[in-house]
Amino acid sequence: MRIEAKIVALLGVAVICAPAVATAQQTTIRAGTLIDGRGGIQRNVVIGIEGTRIARIESGNARTGYDLSQFTLLPGLIDAHVHIGAHFGRTNRSVTPGETPVEQALYATENAYMMLMAGFTTVQSIGAASDVPLRDAIARGKIPGPRLLTAVSPVRDPAMTVQQIREHVRKAVADGADVIKIFASKSIREGGGQTLSDEQVLAACSEAKSLGKRVWVHAHAASAVRAAAVAGCTTVTHGSQITDAEAKLMVERGTFFEPQTGLLLQNYLENKDRFLGDGNFDEAGFKFMQDGIALNDAMFKMAIRHKDLKINMGTDAVAGAHGQNAREIIYRVQKGGQGAMDAILGATSVNADAMGLKDRIGTLAPGMEADLIAVEGDPLADISALRRVVFVMKGGKVYRNIAPGQ
Ligand SMILES: [Zn+2]
Repeated sequence: MRIEAKIVALLGVAVICAPAVATAQQTTIRAGTLIDGRGGIQRNVVIGIEGTRIARIESGNARTGYDLSQFTLLPGLIDAHVHIGAHFGRTNRSVTPGETPVEQALYATENAYMMLMAGFTTVQSIGAASDVPLRDAIARGKIPGPRLLTAVSPVRDPAMTVQQIREHVRKAVADGADVIKIFASKSIREGGGQTLSDEQVLAACSEAKSLGKRVWVHAHAASAVRAAAVAGCTTVTHGSQITDAEAKLMVERGTFFEPQTGLLLQNYLENKDRFLGDGNFDEAGFKFMQDGIALNDAMFKMAIRHKDLKINMGTDAVAGAHGQNAREIIYRVQKGGQGAMDAILGATSVNADAMGLKDRIGTLAPGMEADLIAVEGDPLADISALRRVVFVMKGGKVYRNIAPGQ
């Protein structure tokens, strides 16, 4: 009887202890090389993860948990500019007539999955109303995808009054926007000239700021870039026609700069048959894009000479590009001449800062979210290693693990 009583007592203790063990889920990862996302490198460390966060990073070779000692660990990559719903539909074209909302939601979910598997644990969609339920579904933890932020509904129409622009921004925020997107210039397929006036740009950015939101400004023309920087907008995306003067102005104003050099135009050209005939995707538009690659290369080489310019990584991923996001980082190094560490910072801590999340993601350090990836090879020596992702963890949960020797 006494033995039985003891067993019952022990079982009781086990039952009482079980929930505590379950809530403090602990995982360890052994890393051969760790790139911390802030410019630091550590060798032979063990990362302790408790729940969704990194609890500690200690040197050692303990054989525990996931053994990624043959790989390079980095913070989960961040893409600050995607269009998560964009896809080629049933007829394999970018125009998708007759599609149901359910089909569209599933295509967006596919894009989310592909980006997560490619090592992108946070992306910002710039943006559509349909992003909101996807963002929330991913956040519930049931659908595999990157943390998602969205602009919901961009400001685009130059015919809007300043008052209407302010109302549009307020409505986007009420509808769940994490960030505001404005189009201050035409598309590059139409030459990229400024569309919104300086006053309209200021209205959008000041309204967003007063609501605690950041603003992404689509701007090709130098004048549109100047308007955005002067208005205190967060980030200029594209910037294909900037000169040294605008790069300097962005440094002075603390504006983030998000150029696209390696994926956006290339993806359009690689999939020309699927885009041709869709709006401004005509032969003249494709000529602008073909010529744009070399112009962007020259612009980027100029931009990186401005050492204090905060260059963040956003691909503007559209149909066909999701999952290939790292091509932008790789191109910046291989063709643009940017240092590999700087290019990695652009997709980690600099991006986290631009997205207002620098205290949570973009860096591997105690207290940060356990968003981390492992790649085969050393991306500092060969940046293309970023496309050889063997392990993806987001918020302490493993979503991909094809690392041999586990
Ligand atoms: Zn875009």
